[in-house]
Amino acid sequence: MISILFACSGNKSETQSNTPPIDSFDYKVDTFADIKILRYRVPGFENLTLKQKEMIYYLSQAATEGRDILWDQNNKHNLCIRRTLEAVYENTTDKTSDDFKKLETYLKRIWMANGIHHHYSEDKIMPAFTAGFFTDAVKSIDSSKLPLEQGETVEQLIAKLTPILFDPNVMPKKTNQEAGVDLITTSANNYYEGVTQKEVEDFYGKMKNPNDSTPISYGLNSKLTKENGQVVEKVYKVGGMYGAAIERIVGWLEKAAGVAENDHQKEVINTLIRFYRNGDLKTFDEFNIKWVQDLTSQIDFVNGFTENYGDPLGMKASWESLINFKDPEATKRTEIISQNAQWFEDNSPTDKKFKKETVKGVSAKVINAAMLGGDCYPSTPIGINLPNANWIRAKYGSKSVTIQNITEAYDQASLGNGFNEEFMWSDTERERAAKYGSLTNNLHTDLHECLGHGSGKLLPGTDPDALKAYGSPIEETRADLFGLYYLGDPKLVELGLLPDAEAYKAQYYQYLMNGFMTQLTRIQPGKNIEQAHMRNRQLIASWVFEKGKAENVVELKEKDGKKYIVINDYEKVRNLFGELLAQIQRIKSTGDFAAGRDLVEKYAVKVNQDIHKEVLARYAKLNIAPYSGFVNPVYTLVTDKNGKITDVNISYNEGYIQQHLRYSKDYSVLPTYN
Ligand SMILES: [Zn+2]
Repeated sequence: MISILFACSGNKSETQSNTPPIDSFDYKVDTFADIKILRYRVPGFENLTLKQKEMIYYLSQAATEGRDILWDQNNKHNLCIRRTLEAVYENTTDKTSDDFKKLETYLKRIWMANGIHHHYSEDKIMPAFTAGFFTDAVKSIDSSKLPLEQGETVEQLIAKLTPILFDPNVMPKKTNQEAGVDLITTSANNYYEGVTQKEVEDFYGKMKNPNDSTPISYGLNSKLTKENGQVVEKVYKVGGMYGAAIERIVGWLEKAAGVAENDHQKEVINTLIRFYRNGDLKTFDEFNIKWVQDLTSQIDFVNGFTENYGDPLGMKASWESLINFKDPEATKRTEIISQNAQWFEDNSPTDKKFKKETVKGVSAKVINAAMLGGDCYPSTPIGINLPNANWIRAKYGSKSVTIQNITEAYDQASLGNGFNEEFMWSDTERERAAKYGSLTNNLHTDLHECLGHGSGKLLPGTDPDALKAYGSPIEETRADLFGLYYLGDPKLVELGLLPDAEAYKAQYYQYLMNGFMTQLTRIQPGKNIEQAHMRNRQLIASWVFEKGKAENVVELKEKDGKKYIVINDYEKVRNLFGELLAQIQRIKSTGDFAAGRDLVEKYAVKVNQDIHKEVLARYAKLNIAPYSGFVNPVYTLVTDKNGKITDVNISYNEGYIQQHLRYSKDYSVLPTYN
């Protein structure tokens, strides 16, 4: 599970980084459409040993090799479209025309989204260049540069891609979450083909044994399709679907295993390699158990089919990778939280029968990302908690990370952008945000990841997938509420995690303001909320607003014709967070689908049109791009005259276009259609 940063706010980062940001470091790379591209520093890389640097190099290569897998998972035509447009981009002679500039912007947008659907809204991105320009441009270049299938003509390629690119009714949504329709046939992703939602549910329903206490993650690493009228899984593995890219990933992992920090870590990597070879989800569980038990290595990684947000039924996982290493100073904060995990579990406002008697192995650390790949690139989470299998989490615990250098880049890039001035009620809220904003943001992420997702238990016999499409937003709501509830607990001051009893108010205010108003900057006028994290934030904010109405706990006040969130009683807000947490935990523990659905549909999906309109107008005046993506640093091996590796260099000067064209050239071994 992942955490994603709020709509940006202009907090000064005073507390979070031990390595002060280099003043001259240029965090901003590019801005286009609704996107800004940033760069992140990798503090501490220079202090790693040669072996560790080498390991990061190999894992980084593996992280980049999986890029095209994700592109194909997101839509079956993605690689064809990208290869066609990149060929046009690189081979067109007149690069100054208005249409060419529009094509460049479109390419930048699909690079950001790993495909033709917006990475966040999941709506198809419509090109601003014309179909006529597209036809002429494709025809004008040497056809050997185009991704033509066997026997396909240039005209056929153009005819195939034109409706996909330009007709808004063709494949309009990557992952459809709308209630009441077939979620599989109406989603444009490539996890399923030629099957209906009912066929999918029947196929996996038959496989599942309700009495299995250690179920595999059914369907995680495959595409479900039909062959000769039979529903079949095409498994992602060496020799299977995506085999060419997976083989390259395995090759780099083998090199990484050769320089592992210790035997356990080597075993972790080798088990992952075994899984990539056999595609057996039992081996995947074995890998996860070993991975979650590796607590001593400084370097850690995610590499594989991991998160299921892209599948409307929450089974199929997108490919992602994140290479990181521990920041020892900042990790002290999360260690304190982990050491007190049982206290937090025992004192939570949930019903005793839904609590874990013993909270196992909640480990947490603060890390710096060294490389982002697949579904963690260019847009990236700020926190990760894995593995996702409930029984492994219950039995072996989970690992949780807060990604410090990514947060730093966000904070540094948003300094002084006017956001808090526009949307916060008064100087009191702004001063609190400046003083405590970064710290409480990070701490909320820590609590969400280290404790929130790991807390509570399912009652015996409860199907972990009982909440179906509502499972993700309910789970994120639960983790967020756990963090919010405890941020306001005096225990955090006692543990030295917060400086005083005032600090938590910064996060409470920001959270409600964001959930109720400012996150709507990410939604197009007239649209509903789809994304699980956004749904969870609105659910919490709207629920608290409604329940607190009678006592005027939170109100919407007007000043100079603008609306603001005002919190009149922070104590009571905390109590309401606790009350909702108890409800959500009951829904999760008992698998109460109807109650989960009702909460999500009532509070999380529909947008208040008046507020939305106003927020968009106010936000537009600030001229801030609502989404951020990143470019990776570039690692190069330094060798002596005998070819022996003597160092690994890190450089930060690659541009956004440059990086994507390089990746498409050097890390692109999959066929155009898989
Ligand atoms: Zn989460």
